[in-house]
Amino acid sequence: RAKESGRGCQRVYEAGMELVMQQRRELERDLRMALALGEFALHYQPVVDMARDRITSFEALLRWCSPTRGQVPPAEFIPFAEEVGLMPEIGDWVLRTACREAAGWPEPVKVSVNLSTTQFRLPDLVHRVTAALEETGLGADRLELEVTETAMIDDVQGAAAILGELRALGIQIAMDDFGTGYSSLSFLRNLPFTRIKIDRSFVKDLGTKPEAAAIVRAVTGLCDSLGVSATAEGVETERQVAMLRAEGCPEVQGYFISRPCPAGEVADWIAAFASSRRGEPGEGALRD
Ligand code: C2E
Ligand code: MG
Ligand code: MG
Ligand code: MG
Repeated sequence: RAKESGRGCQRVYEAGMELVMQQRRELERDLRMALALGEFALHYQPVVDMARDRITSFEALLRWCSPTRGQVPPAEFIPFAEEVGLMPEIGDWVLRTACREAAGWPEPVKVSVNLSTTQFRLPDLVHRVTAALEETGLGADRLELEVTETAMIDDVQGAAAILGELRALGIQIAMDDFGTGYSSLSFLRNLPFTRIKIDRSFVKDLGTKPEAAAIVRAVTGLCDSLGVSATAEGVETERQVAMLRAEGCPEVQGYFISRPCPAGEVADWIAAFASSRRGEPGEGALRD
């Protein structure tokens, strides 16, 4: 009997595995098609310097609108695309599209592009980046690349060399989600970052956990001394803005400033921001 029910379990397990494999094959096929059929788009979310009252950059965030699956969040398909080796190709598309769309924005507004771990490890990464710049005519000083600690942890020296090459071209480098990975001080010392993005988990805890405020203060202080900009991610309330300011972090990004918006709305957003600075109609919440 036990043997029989064991076989039953085995069959259920095999059927389950087969289903998972089937779903993965379908997702992979759909992702390959998505690129060819133009189902991807970039949305852009501004980063604003509150103290200087100006837009620093817009971060490009990948969106997949599938005719059969609907809007698929990047957290669901990017890790999978990494796994099946599609990320270099999708990443190239992101780079080219972001550079092309940003080339039409007023200077000196930059565009920030997220690099996945596999993309960061490509031996010809620098070439892929310069190709996107050349193809689109975007100045290297208007491109910022966002990398996470996980992408660099295995080979800090190798990462330092690649980032150094990109910096030498005039490209800015941001460390994304700072504080969630292995965030060691040696990263800050040995890698040529121009910006640290403080992860939104710290911002979320600002009002309730004194440690969060202490960490934000310490990180922004350190960034200041190192000549690196600090940006707080995931800012959702005016109170968080005030607290971040008090802790010395004037650069913010989050739903309180703006949700990520389609490429076609960026120019309007920039114009509305500029007129709010002059105190004209449309005055935003960003003024003191
Ligand atoms: P990330 O680079 O840390 O991007 C920030 C994420 O937080 C975005 O989610 C953004 O929409 C969301 N966010 C912004 N402000 C707020 C806020 O005030 N509150 C909350 N709760 N969330 C906020 P999204 O677009 O779903 O992207 C998730 C992650 O997927 C990104 O995290 C990034 O790691 C990855 N990703 C997105 N686009 C790309 C891409 O083009 N290439 C690569 N390699 N990764 C990407
Ligand atoms: Mg990012
Ligand atoms: Mg981030
Ligand atoms: Mg994050």
